[in-house]
Order: sequence, then structure tokens, then C-alpha cells
Amino acid sequence: MDTIVVGAGIAGITAARLLHAAGQRVVVLEARDRVGGRIRTDRTAGFCVDRGASWIHGLTGNPLTGLVAALAMETHEFTVGSFQAGGRPIADYDESRRLLDDQAARQWTVDVDTADDLFQTTIADSGHDESYAAAAERALARTGWEPERAERVRAFYRHRTEEQCGAEAEEVAAHALDEDAIEGDEVIFPGGYDVLPRALAEGLDVRLGTTVTAVTRSATGVRVDTQDGSFEAAHVIVTVPLGVLKAGAIEFTPALPDSVAGPIARLGMGVFNKVFLQFPDRFWQDGIYAIRQHGQASVPWHSWYDVSAVSGKPMLLTFAGGAWGREIEQKTDEEVVSSVLHSLRKIYGDLVPRPVAHWITRWGIDPLALGSYSYVAVGSSHADHDAMAGPVDGVLHFAGEATWGREPSTVHGALHSGHRAAERILGSPISLAGLAQGVNPSR
Ligand SMILES: Cc1cc2nc3c(=O)[nH]c(=O)nc-3n(C[C@H](O)[C@H](O)[C@H](O)COP(=O)(O)OP(=O)(O)OC[C@H]3O[C@@H](n4cnc5c(N)ncnc54)[C@H](O)[C@@H]3O)c2cc1C
Repeated sequence: MDTIVVGAGIAGITAARLLHAAGQRVVVLEARDRVGGRIRTDRTAGFCVDRGASWIHGLTGNPLTGLVAALAMETHEFTVGSFQAGGRPIADYDESRRLLDDQAARQWTVDVDTADDLFQTTIADSGHDESYAAAAERALARTGWEPERAERVRAFYRHRTEEQCGAEAEEVAAHALDEDAIEGDEVIFPGGYDVLPRALAEGLDVRLGTTVTAVTRSATGVRVDTQDGSFEAAHVIVTVPLGVLKAGAIEFTPALPDSVAGPIARLGMGVFNKVFLQFPDRFWQDGIYAIRQHGQASVPWHSWYDVSAVSGKPMLLTFAGGAWGREIEQKTDEEVVSSVLHSLRKIYGDLVPRPVAHWITRWGIDPLALGSYSYVAVGSSHADHDAMAGPVDGVLHFAGEATWGREPSTVHGALHSGHRAAERILGSPISLAGLAQGVNPSR
């Protein structure tokens, strides 16, 4: 065997496909009974519910754009995936649950832009030890706004790190979202995101239900132990989520050097969960992308996204990130649904019926993820992401969203990291265009 890939998420499948196309003998070992990892489409209701990733965060310059076109995947424009304040119609509600009129909504997006500009200049000289919360306070202090106006932006900033990082603003580094620029529109997939990893995995030797427990390296190669026996190869690419590495679920011998173990310890693994509610009827406004509650009334639920176009049913999606995301994992489905309805009824009153169905994720307690995605925690930096990739002793490589500093916590970041690992193993550049070759658009 030339290369063993651990994990059949988008990073692992990308690396394996590129190496396979270059003539290598590759095996992919995956603990789950499916490929895709944190891309997971639930079709049990007869339509698609993406329980993991939903969005392409920016079509411009994104390798996913060409792949999705090659696979003829249906897309739906939905450019609010990155917690924007404006840009697309959003029904914004103030602390008293009054709908902001057009002028007030425009002023709100201007306020966020103003605060963001001040935030950027505030953190220009900030080190690794300042938190996003502390930097936000310094920026807000420079606005001179009255308390209520500043509080709205403060609450928005808190929800931004909960959504983008799965962590509280106090846990996240001031620089964590520096890379977070979305180029072009965002889209979601009525036919399910998992079409992509499933198509890319076609023709590969993927061993499902195979849990890796240990990786031993020597001067000449690697041995990978699973519950069903061992595999040997010249190289291994480990793509398991950062949460799994932090938990020590795979034993590395010799122990990982500080250059890799340090970033694994320093970076954070956030929790970000989804709650989909399918209603018998639509009770919210037509023509909006999202409903957003502002200010102190925005705790614990603040944003609801109209994803009816995906399912063809009246459906809202809301998120729970950071501490609240971990907390809901301990609650029953009924408790979570009731809590969401309680917040929605404060806005829409008795118009809000009982949902006919719901879907709630719990990525933080999923033993094969142990979190939703990585983030730059206080004390770490984006360089830690890339340092984590190794290679170690020329034979042990890491890939996955947590190893890609420019765009961690995304599908395209994971894809880029798989591409980089494949190039390092081959020792020469590989065109990413090759990924789309031979994919089957009929799926
Ligand atoms: C709720 C949620 C929403 C998201 N939304 C978006 C979005 O809209 N857009 C976006 O771009 N990104 C989004 N993301 C992030 C995106 O899903 C991930 O960044 C990306 O899918 C990670 O791919 P990966 O290959 O790095 O890891 P994974 O997909 O996690 O793949 C790693 C694989 O390793 C396997 N594994 C774990 N342990 C072992 C073991 N011991 N042995 C063998 N196999 C093992 C796992 O089962 C998994 O299949 C979201 C994530 C979540 C959780």
C-alpha cells in the first residue's frame, strides 16, 4: 500500500482521489457506516435535511464551485450563511420585538460595518492572548454610541463567534475571524450536500466501519491499527476531527512532536448545532432569508433561516453554538423544541403552531467528531492550523478543516487540506481540476 487515509470526510476523500488518480494504491479507513463525515444529509423524511454542512461559503474562487457544476448538483442561492447583518432581506426585531423598518434596518447594517472597521483597526496590534470579547469592547468603546445601540452590536458579535467558531467570544482569539471574507454568493443544496463526498468516493477503496486506534511510524513507513487488524503503507494521512485528536482516541507512537501536539492542544474545537423545525403552515413573512432577534432578547435563540426552498415544506432552521450549543445536547428533543417555540412566540405570538417534525443535531457528543469545527482559541493563531498538518518524519500527514489556516471550519478548507497532503506525498503539484474528472453527474 502506498498511502492509508484515516477518515472519509471531504479532506480524506479529496486526498485519496487525487493520489488514486496519480496511480497510487490507497485505502481509506472510516469508522462510520457512511462517507462524508461532517457532511451528512438526512433523507428519512423524503426530502433532504443537511445535519452537518449546508453552505458553500462564497462561490468565487472556490474549488467546490467547479465540482458542484461537474456533478450537476442543484443549488439554491442563500447568502446569509456566514452570519451577515444585511445584504439580503432579513426581518430584524428590536429588544421590544418590534420589526425594524427599512431605515432602521439599514442603520443597523451600517452600525455593524462601522463597528467592524473599528474592530479591525483595534486588533491590528493585538497579540495572541486577547479575546474576541475584549477586542470587541475596545472597538465599541471607540464608537461613542449610547448603551442600547452598542449592546445590539455586542450581542451580534457574541452570536457571531458562537456561529462561526462554535465558542464564546471570551474563548475565541481576537484574530480568529480575520480570514472570514466571503467572496461571491453562498448556496445550499436542495438535493443534499452529501452527493459531493459520495461522488468523489466512487471507485476508491473505502473500508467503512473501520475504527483506527493507533498509528506507529518508522523511518520507512507507517502501521495503522484498527479494531479489525493492521495496515501498512509508506504514508498515512490522518483526517479525523480535532476533537477526536484532542481526546487521544488514536495513539501515536512515537508520541507526536510539539510542532503538531502544541497546535492540537492550543486550537479550540467548537460546538455548533442545528435545529430544524417543519411547520404545518408558514407564519412568517414572505421574501425574507432570515428572522433575527436583536439585543439582550436574542438569548438563547436569535436567528431563524427560512430553508423551505430545500425541503419544499414550511421550515425554519436555527442554531445553537458555544455554551448553549453544548447545553442543548443534554436536553431532550421536547425541551429544545419548546425552548425554540417560546422564543418564536415572543415575536409571532399565537401564530406559531406546533411543528410537525424536527431535527436536532448533537455534534459535541458524537464520538467521531467531538465538536463541530475548530477555531483559533485565545493563545493560538492561524499558523497553528497549518503547523498541525505536519508532516512528521516525512510519513505522517494530517489533513482536515482544522489544518487549513486560511479557511478553517469549512468544507472548502478541508478540501484544500486534502489536496495539500496529496501534493506533499507525491512531491509535485497536482491540479485541483483533476478532482472533477470522471465524477458521475447522474447521482
Ligand atoms: C453543524 C455543522 C454545520 C456546518 N456548516 C458548514 C457549512 O455550511 N459550510 C461549510 O463550508 N462548512 C460547514 N461545516 C464544517 C464542515 O462540515 C467541515 O469543516 C468539513 O466537513 C470537515 O471535513 P473533514 O474531512 O475535515 O472532517 P470530517 O468530515 O469530520 O471527516 C473526518 C472523518 O474521520 C472519521 N473518523 C473519526 N475518528 C475515526 C477513527 N478513529 N478511525 C476512522 N475514522 C475516524 C469520521 O467519522 C469522519 O468521517 C459545518 C459543520 C457542522 C458540524
